[in-house]
Amino acid sequence: MTNILDLSLEDLKLWMRENRESEFRAKQIFDWIYKNVWDFDDMRNIPLSLRQKLQNYFYIGIPKILQCLKSNLDETEKFLLEYADGNVIECVVMKYKHGISICISTQIGCKMGCKFCASTLEGVVRNLTAGEMLAQVMVAQKKIGQRISNIVLMGSGEPLDNYDNVIKFINYANADYGFKIGQRHITLSTCGIIPKIIELADKKMQITLAISLHASNDTLRKSMMPIAYKYSIKELIEACKYYIEKTNKRITFEYALVKDVNDRREDAEMLVKLLKDMLCHINLIPVNEVRENKFRKPSSENIKTFYNILTSFGIETTIRKEMGADINAACGQLRRSYLKSNKQNKGV
Ligand code: SAH
Repeated sequence: MTNILDLSLEDLKLWMRENRESEFRAKQIFDWIYKNVWDFDDMRNIPLSLRQKLQNYFYIGIPKILQCLKSNLDETEKFLLEYADGNVIECVVMKYKHGISICISTQIGCKMGCKFCASTLEGVVRNLTAGEMLAQVMVAQKKIGQRISNIVLMGSGEPLDNYDNVIKFINYANADYGFKIGQRHITLSTCGIIPKIIELADKKMQITLAISLHASNDTLRKSMMPIAYKYSIKELIEACKYYIEKTNKRITFEYALVKDVNDRREDAEMLVKLLKDMLCHINLIPVNEVRENKFRKPSSENIKTFYNILTSFGIETTIRKEMGADINAACGQLRRSYLKSNKQNKGV
């Protein structure tokens, strides 16, 4: 059986032709799905014979909501979702003045091994398909009853390690028959897989690229992120410059600030040197503390000092506002606590 959400409208039209059905049915079916009708039998304008055929070929891969946590501090909502094969992922909905944003997962787990991140502690199980990513948006949008206008690929997983599915997903999210979320409203965050950054640049997409930099020298970056053994900061910056040249888009550099690790004045100054002539923006993220590791948040005073150094050199910088601090909203934390309690219940 095929997940119908993994098909584009063109794919479904082709299936209709191959199965001696009228092409226009494809659009009707997608219209139902995007109206949150997720059972072929409820699609009233589709003839019974076609509904039966559809049921033999396809399923509508909507994950089950295992948990939905709402923050008491802000309006952040976090979902723990279970796919048909029993795998669970999480996604987070954040409400801002400019619209509603969803942070989706691109893989089940992650293999990148960043030392501060909870998503990677159990490794990667598998990639998510484009339809499975799309379904995160569908489920969340239905649950909150409001339109989601922005997507960030910043949940569990490394999007550029699942490149083809991610590109497909972006195209589906853009599609006129679907959510119509423009590329400008989509941000992709990567730990820096250079060949894929180049490929993305050559596509000249209008998405925002966010790079998880987190350190301004290779020795330090290697101690935080294994990917730094494969690609140096110099190579990464060159790839980013290529991306900017091709797309004319400003890049966001994410920098998770960790007490006594990368929060010194010298770190800020090195960062300035590295990025000062680039079309970019730095997003400082006071590290989300994860029980399993030793990375701790700097004091607010140190965060402010670090910020002041960057801005005094004219680098546009923001400090990420913590959202959903009371609901395990950091990458992978909810899934991890779910997996742990499940193991305990099963006596593993
Ligand atoms: N794999 C991608 C996207 C997922 S992680 C990437 O590396 O960019 C999304 C962002 O959250 C990345 O910048 C990641 O480094 C950061 N992150 C992960 N765990 C974190 C933590 N405990 N505190 C702060 N930022 C974290």
